[in-house]
Amino acid sequence: MGMVSRILAALLASLCLFGAARAETQKDVHIGVLAFRGAEEAERTWQSTFDHLGRTLPQYRFHLVSGTAAFLTAAVAAHRLDFLITNPGHYLELKVDYSASALATEQDLEGPTPSEAVGAAVFVLDDHPEIQSLADLRNLRVAAVAPDAFGYRAALREIMERGVDPERDTKQVFVGFPVDEVMRAVRDRRADAGIIRSCALEKLLAEGAIQKDEFRVIGRRPSGALNCQVSTRLYPGWPFVKVAQTPAPLARQIAQALFGMQPGQDEKAWTQPDAYGSVQDLYRTLKVGPYAPFTRLGLADFVVEHRYIAALIGLGLIWWLTHVVRVSYLVRKRTHELQLAHEAARQRGEQMEHTVRLSLMGEMASSLAHEINQPLAAILTYARGCERRIESGADPASLRDAVQRIAVQAERAGDIVRRMKDFVRKNPAPQVPIDPAAALHDAVALFEPTATAAGVIVESEIPDTLPAIRADRLQLEEVVINLLQNALEAISAQDDKQIIMRVRGDRDRLHISVADNGPGLAPEAREHLFDPFYTTKKNGLGLGLSLSRTIVEAHGGRLLVETDPAGMTNFRFYLPLIEEPARV
Ligand code: ADP
Repeated sequence: MGMVSRILAALLASLCLFGAARAETQKDVHIGVLAFRGAEEAERTWQSTFDHLGRTLPQYRFHLVSGTAAFLTAAVAAHRLDFLITNPGHYLELKVDYSASALATEQDLEGPTPSEAVGAAVFVLDDHPEIQSLADLRNLRVAAVAPDAFGYRAALREIMERGVDPERDTKQVFVGFPVDEVMRAVRDRRADAGIIRSCALEKLLAEGAIQKDEFRVIGRRPSGALNCQVSTRLYPGWPFVKVAQTPAPLARQIAQALFGMQPGQDEKAWTQPDAYGSVQDLYRTLKVGPYAPFTRLGLADFVVEHRYIAALIGLGLIWWLTHVVRVSYLVRKRTHELQLAHEAARQRGEQMEHTVRLSLMGEMASSLAHEINQPLAAILTYARGCERRIESGADPASLRDAVQRIAVQAERAGDIVRRMKDFVRKNPAPQVPIDPAAALHDAVALFEPTATAAGVIVESEIPDTLPAIRADRLQLEEVVINLLQNALEAISAQDDKQIIMRVRGDRDRLHISVADNGPGLAPEAREHLFDPFYTTKKNGLGLGLSLSRTIVEAHGGRLLVETDPAGMTNFRFYLPLIEEPARV
């Protein structure tokens, strides 16, 4: 091996070593590229940019990842890309959904201005003279690569402005990428017109893929510095996009490298990023991309689009409303009926209570009359005595004692009459705090003449002072007299007659019991005792106990019957005391 070749070999080895070392420290940068004419075309278009970046920033290894918009969006979502080169529409979606930002906008140094670089051409076969303007597309078959292609959307706006809704008024034919397919669809007459991105036709012509006068662009608009035929407004060129999480220092290095790029013939250069406001405008007008949710949420659009479902929902709503109105009417009616029934029942209850009281009073009437007769007879005796003394000229002072006795007896008769009157009072009174001792004394006093007439002494043990209860005094007396009357009737047929009434208060209740030494209850009576109209008596109403239990329970208490250890029939009930105010 000669000297020169040895030196060369050494040089080569060191270069390789250097290369390997460099490869180890190089960081990977993934750049997505939207491919609308296949991966190879995409690589060819952006090769100069990649070469330039590789040269300028040797510390990075740049990887080109080409694919459709959907593929690239998924890669961004998976954090597999650092940058993208894509069309303005796709960029807008990435900007909204993934906070992507444009670092630079492509620039053709000899071509159009960066803000007016891309549009679309709508073309027909030249042998269709009747198709001249975009309005003529109505009812025709229109081919495009895909519904989300940028060129297609740019054309859509113009066609709609001519009063034609491509979705409704034309038959759309989506042929898929690459764009050459659109040209083929029109050439093979599978479509009457085609929509293709600006300059694509010129490129196909240059490549010899189409003949010079084979196609004609319709609805032409001025194309400014862009040296191609267009049917649409022009939009900024493609942006070089930074993904949100890409570090700012790297983005700055890349941007500087892009701006410093000196393109050769037919090569792209990069300039300051456009604001892409015109693209935003386009998407807002079409309600697509980031503006699509508004369409979906628009109630009016929804109703038009799903009119059968909407009609069904409407019918359902009407049915439901009718149902609600009907049910609430029925409820109101029923409530009113219930209120009436309740009121009637209440009145019947009052009526019944009064009836029972009158019946009890009937039982007691003759003995009460007898009871009143006694003071009256005494008054008569004293009055006659006074008369005689006055006639015999006695000292009027000696009459004082007799007159006082007359007053006492008159009061006694008056008391009896008051109690009777109170007892047959018709109107129910509210439950108010009362002294139970006074009420119970009154009840026993009212009943005593009847008992005495029957030869019975009621043994009552009523303490003089008892804790207060909340009650309708009249109802309380009615319950007690009712129990006393039942007891008296139970023992009427026997010689040894005993009625014992006991009253005592404990911590929170007032206990009252009426016991008699009568024959007790038959098993059948024990079961039905408290049923209304259950009676074993010839002239009984059968209402006393049922009413008494209702009254006691309305006062928060209970009425029970038992045979006590002495073998006596014992009706007892309790009522709650008024709660003592809590002590501090
Ligand atoms: P009435 O006294 O009009 O029959 P009640 O509802 O007061 O109606 O009494 C129902 C029935 O309960 C009486 O007919 C009687 O058979 C029975 N009864 C009530 N009190 C006693 C008692 N102290 N001893 C035995 N049976 C009684």
